[in-house]
Amino acid sequence: MCTDDFCAPESHLWRAVLREWEHWADRYSYPLVMNPIFEATELFQRGVGGDTEVVTKQMYTFTDKGGRSVTLRPEGTAGVVRAFLNSGTSGAWKGAYSGPMFRYERPQAGRRRQFWQVGVEYLDVEGPAADAEVIELGYRYLSAVQVTGLELLLNSLGDELCRPGYVDLLRRYLEERRSRLCDDSVSLIEVNPLRVLDCKVCAPVLADAPAMKDHLCDPCATHYQQVKSALDGLGIAFREDARLVRGLDYYTRTAFEYIATDLTVAQNAVGGGGRYDGLAEAIGGRRTPGVGFALGIDRIILSSDLVPEPEVDVYLVSETTPADALVAASRLREKGLRVDFDTEGRSVKAQFKAASRSEARAVVVLRAGGALVDARVGEERGDVPLPELASWLMGRLG
Ligand code: AMP
Repeated sequence: MCTDDFCAPESHLWRAVLREWEHWADRYSYPLVMNPIFEATELFQRGVGGDTEVVTKQMYTFTDKGGRSVTLRPEGTAGVVRAFLNSGTSGAWKGAYSGPMFRYERPQAGRRRQFWQVGVEYLDVEGPAADAEVIELGYRYLSAVQVTGLELLLNSLGDELCRPGYVDLLRRYLEERRSRLCDDSVSLIEVNPLRVLDCKVCAPVLADAPAMKDHLCDPCATHYQQVKSALDGLGIAFREDARLVRGLDYYTRTAFEYIATDLTVAQNAVGGGGRYDGLAEAIGGRRTPGVGFALGIDRIILSSDLVPEPEVDVYLVSETTPADALVAASRLREKGLRVDFDTEGRSVKAQFKAASRSEARAVVVLRAGGALVDARVGEERGDVPLPELASWLMGRLG
């Protein structure tokens, strides 16, 4: 099936990265939004775009027992926008999500059929500060999880007023160079020339292609300028990339991508996003401007230098019975410490081995009949009365 399991110790990094995500989403006041993992197929056809590769080739679509066509979600935005529209509220609305997505792609390093995305959507907002806040959140989070060689790419795609003129210009440019383009690009000239800009194979031909940012109408140019100034004000470096596009009509103005330049896999984008002022209408709702991003946790894991903190605070080695250790562990756990011990009554030597494997921050030896335990945190060691054990440990583990 080309899916993977992640267990400890590998899963420690996943946990650390996902915990950090919750922390950053909270800081920017994005509450959790939980969507179904499967939806009516039509939502993605309309919300992702009927002629995109994701929809035409990559969706896990099936007919359920009620005869409905349903699809495992290939991305998060359409579901969140639908949830917002269903909620019947209006005015600025935020949501953060985290969960598995599904695309039938050729599996390789950094590309899986079930992969994990986190993301935010900020809806019913138009101002450039919203774009900048969203971009900043992703950037700060990726920095916090130590993605190496992080780079932010930025572009503006204009809107329904200025983009059609630009698309004509681009189409003409491509027509004139038709013979030098790959077959896929040639087939896109008529239907969606913007997506040709994405083509890696045709890069040399596209070097001098007209850039959307030079053909923006005044309101779009002002918006773009203000997003860039806001990022400057936040001290976030970015590189303008005229070839960064989203091929669908409902994407407007800001487009951005986060790249892990040190990541040596076929695709080094760790996330991307933009403004999608036309999306809500495309899925049958009222016009709702919005901006958001999705980050790929699988690739973040591959490019992160983060060393996860130990997951166990205290390992109890028992010279008595597992039952004694169970009670002692329970008391420490009540105080909030993360505790592990051997439930099988194995030798003290075997328990010490397990303690060392667990990388626990402290090891405590429960002595036979003893009111005193032998507690060790790093180099520090003490004979501690059992009732004082929790406070002794917490004083040292913080
Ligand atoms: P997209 O939803 O296509 O804009 O993708 C956003 C991010 O999700 C990408 O930058 C990747 O980091 C990640 N991503 C997309 N597809 C996959 C996949 N098949 N496997 C792993 N990560 C993916």
